[in-house]
Amino acid sequence: MQIKAPRGTYDILPDDSGKWQFIEKIMKETAEAYAFREVRTPLFEHTELFERGVGETTDIVSKEMYTFNDRAARSLTLRPEGTASCVRSLIEHRLYGGLMPIKWYYCGPMFRYDRPQAGRYRQFHQFGVEAFGSNNPYLDAEIIILMLEILSRLGLNEYELHLNSVGCPECRKEYRQKLIAFMEPFKKQLCKDCQLRYILNPLRVLDCKNELCHTAIAGYPVISDSLCDNCREHYAQVKAGLEANSISFIHDDKLVRGLDYYSNTAFEVHIPGIGAQSAVGGGGRYNGLVKECGGPDFPGIGFALGLERLLLAMDALNDKQLENDYSCVFVLPMKKDFEADAFKILSHLRRAGIRAEKDYMGRSTKAQLKYADKIGARVVLFIGEEEIQQGFLTLRNMESKEQLRVENNELVNTINNILHKF
Ligand SMILES: [Zn+2]
Ligand SMILES: [Zn+2]
Repeated sequence: MQIKAPRGTYDILPDDSGKWQFIEKIMKETAEAYAFREVRTPLFEHTELFERGVGETTDIVSKEMYTFNDRAARSLTLRPEGTASCVRSLIEHRLYGGLMPIKWYYCGPMFRYDRPQAGRYRQFHQFGVEAFGSNNPYLDAEIIILMLEILSRLGLNEYELHLNSVGCPECRKEYRQKLIAFMEPFKKQLCKDCQLRYILNPLRVLDCKNELCHTAIAGYPVISDSLCDNCREHYAQVKAGLEANSISFIHDDKLVRGLDYYSNTAFEVHIPGIGAQSAVGGGGRYNGLVKECGGPDFPGIGFALGLERLLLAMDALNDKQLENDYSCVFVLPMKKDFEADAFKILSHLRRAGIRAEKDYMGRSTKAQLKYADKIGARVVLFIGEEEIQQGFLTLRNMESKEQLRVENNELVNTINNILHKF
């Protein structure tokens, strides 16, 4: 039987990896410009971390985790998202006692046992940032602006920013009561999940994926009307920070995150035209999360972007800058006897940072030239008897077809000049 990649996973082959390198480079450079630094955490953690840090009642934890026992019968889970690991790391290294704020970014694969569909995989990739230690609303604005700047540096300018405030545990208490009272008369029209959860966690009914639930609760009370003074002020300042940067947003009452550790700012970015899964990323404040995971009462905020969705959006743009530049220099010995000399020049070029290649398949001179052309060689260096005896090389510019004689000590400079002229 032929062994294939597991369902929901895929290979990024070299013809595509250039795109990934490009996206990751833009994301990292942009985050660095905003004074975030990279953190790398393990791909698997103790299962309990996600039960506490993502929430036992969420779909992620209850249905989608890759959980297994290791050989010592410890329950471990492949990380389904990045925030919980960052929080665990912050607490474990007691970084909450040091310089504030702590600003981190991460990038890598995540794992969820989800039904695969366009832009959704079981091993997928996220880029995210987390900032801990400050409740300043301008930090919320900064995080949102950073996310949008990444999108525009990727050429994605047609996005919609959805924004809301989910308040604090105080104002949410009151809002929750209002919602329950509102839903009570319609409870029979809700989906099965929501009939159970509307009392325990009515906010989750608002982001239920079932259309029936949305119809049933049309005209529901919105959280903005229940915000306390502090939360109202916080939200106003976040919006002021965005407006100061001419960033437009859509206030979205449905954007409620149904878990207790979320607070204040919640946001999502959609790119229309990439199908039903138009959200490419989102995030928000989670002031209760560090405490939930066993640390001190310590504010935090972050976002995550899905790289597969971003690539879908970028493919739709058909952007030329994403095409691989795989130009190189090809070293061609005119006879088998000169292979060692060719090999020496090859290494010389590579040490000088020039991508260089030779034939390894025993091709004829003619076939080598053809091959050089196919792999994108912009320069071919011929090595023959005369060249070796007199210490020069014959260089062919594959674009202009002109040939010139280059002294060995001029080789690197000459090639660099040609390569940069394109
Ligand atoms: Zn509040
Ligand atoms: Zn529902």
